[in-house]
Amino acid sequence: MNPFLELGIREEVVNAISELGFEKPSEIQEKAIPVLLTGNDDFVGLAQTGTGKTAAFGLPLLEQLDFSQKHPQALILCPTRELCLQISKDLEKFAKYVDNVHVVAVYGGANISDQLRQIRRGVQIVVATPGRMLDIIGRNAIDFSKVKYVVLDEADEMLNMGFKEDINSILSETPDEKKTWLFSATMPSEVRRIAKNYMTDPVELTVGTKNTGNANIEHHYYLIKAKDKYAAFKRIVDSNPDIFGIVFCRTKIETQDIAEALIKDGYNADSLHGDLSQQQRDKVMKRYRDRSLQLLIATDVAARGIDVSDVTHVINFSLPDETENYTHRSGRTARAGKTGISLSLVNVKELSKIRHLEKIIGKPFEKKQVPQGAEVCEKQLFSIVKKIENVEVNDEQISPFLPAIMENLESLSKEDIIKRFASLEFNRFLDYYKNAPDLNIEAREGSREDRGDRRDGRSREGSKGYTRLFMNLGSVDEFSRGDMLGFICNNANISGKSIGKIDLKGVFTFFEVQDAEVEKVFQGFQGVDYNGRQVRIEVSGEAKSEGRGRSRGGDRGGRREGGYRGGDRGGRREGGYGGGDRGGRREGGFSGERRDRGSSNGGGFRDFSGKRKESKSKY
Ligand code: ADP
Ligand code: MG
Repeated sequence: MNPFLELGIREEVVNAISELGFEKPSEIQEKAIPVLLTGNDDFVGLAQTGTGKTAAFGLPLLEQLDFSQKHPQALILCPTRELCLQISKDLEKFAKYVDNVHVVAVYGGANISDQLRQIRRGVQIVVATPGRMLDIIGRNAIDFSKVKYVVLDEADEMLNMGFKEDINSILSETPDEKKTWLFSATMPSEVRRIAKNYMTDPVELTVGTKNTGNANIEHHYYLIKAKDKYAAFKRIVDSNPDIFGIVFCRTKIETQDIAEALIKDGYNADSLHGDLSQQQRDKVMKRYRDRSLQLLIATDVAARGIDVSDVTHVINFSLPDETENYTHRSGRTARAGKTGISLSLVNVKELSKIRHLEKIIGKPFEKKQVPQGAEVCEKQLFSIVKKIENVEVNDEQISPFLPAIMENLESLSKEDIIKRFASLEFNRFLDYYKNAPDLNIEAREGSREDRGDRRDGRSREGSKGYTRLFMNLGSVDEFSRGDMLGFICNNANISGKSIGKIDLKGVFTFFEVQDAEVEKVFQGFQGVDYNGRQVRIEVSGEAKSEGRGRSRGGDRGGRREGGYRGGDRGGRREGGYGGGDRGGRREGGFSGERRDRGSSNGGGFRDFSGKRKESKSKY
């Protein structure tokens, strides 16, 4: 039996979510749905980003409401327009096979009369941002007297944005007997307070560790000089030709500046922030969702809660002011069980922030080296080779030209032709990165960073203070990285904080354990069986002797890239950011202009690290 059916979700809804690929409930769904289906309690649900909170409240709502009636019965408040649209669309998808479900999205910046018209026609579920909701209430255009459920999604962010009074006023329009469900990824004290104010004896559920990021996210940082930030950022992007990322800045101004610079430099980027009109924001989001945009430069507020699949990198161009926001940012990647990287560009002064974040997410950040020019070139070269390998040939269109092409190339050997085709784009990178300096800096003497790194500018396999271990179980045994983390911690009886990087391979796994806890791992796994197989742990030979060799072979040859999201790449390229865009970027990208701007000594480029005078609403 379908596990959602077992939870008590009706067949029509189960059919719809099956089509969306929901096979079994996520942990928060599994735990929250039974509670919410009783309809008896106020509720606080804390779960990491990307764990399916929308369905956790959405599915129970679809069971509880009376869709033969056409008055508002559920009100969902959320902080941004994007989120508002996303939630209402998700609900509509869940309700695809349920008759007479009417959902309205109420948010600022869009035509209010459309929204009023929809409300007049009759709706059961209102998804709203607080400002516009109040506006509509002020016009006496909506009747909340029969609301049974209020959902506060991303409650902490609504408070951050100063919506507290608005929420108070809106809630005062709803009956006292309604139930309030609050969902958030984090639980700062303000949220606790709101829970106290608005709820009576809420059932509180926490999935995963509070305030902890998703285990499928790798956290990296790059230590650089403030003035080299933009150049370092570009190198990282250039060495990840298939990047599909969200770049976070602290202010609207910074967001705009970075986006403009990137566009000028020929990248496929655009910005998303609060100063754009609703239409502009929708357009940017649509382009990003369609993958015709490769880099979305955004403020914390604008990108809160956004769910776009397969974001490969979250880039903290600037670290957030509020540490809570780091969790929200990194949660834009590794959604629905996928993996992703959250990377931060920091200068020496900001290192303490990284240490603080490590405590919050309960996991060490890996120090990475800004790729050297040669590495970028190599990555690009292999990307070109892959492209040549995968390109779809339109025989019909190209055949009339072939005789002439053949004639032109006749004198060249196969090797020559290959070399030339590959060089076509590669030369631009070679040229651009010819004299590119090393952008990495070392932390001060004796600090943790210093010791962990190799002189030649690559970080070694094992992090300092950690031992790299081998286990004879891997992804074929149906472990996700999160599962593996739990499996190790439970058996060894150690905390997740003692575990470093987990490298889940097909039939085995490498993982790092703090030196002091290694013995416990060996002890803990003694005689442990998994599916009839004895679990074997060994110190990884690579960590000590072969680390270097492997690091080179694996990282540089682009092999790792290929393995990492092999299937994805071809597919994405086909349907994804099409040739046009990419070509465009290259063309513009490596012209003289880009060379000037990108010169890593900051040559005349604006220093984004500098403080600017900021307007009052800077997000
Ligand atoms: P959150 O609000 O917790 O950040 P979302 O509700 O936006 O997360 O869900 C994240 C993604 O996971 C969405 O793309 C959603 O469609 C998907 N998803 C949610 N629940 C499931 C499930 N049970 N199985 C598969 N995918 C799911
Ligand atoms: Mg959400």
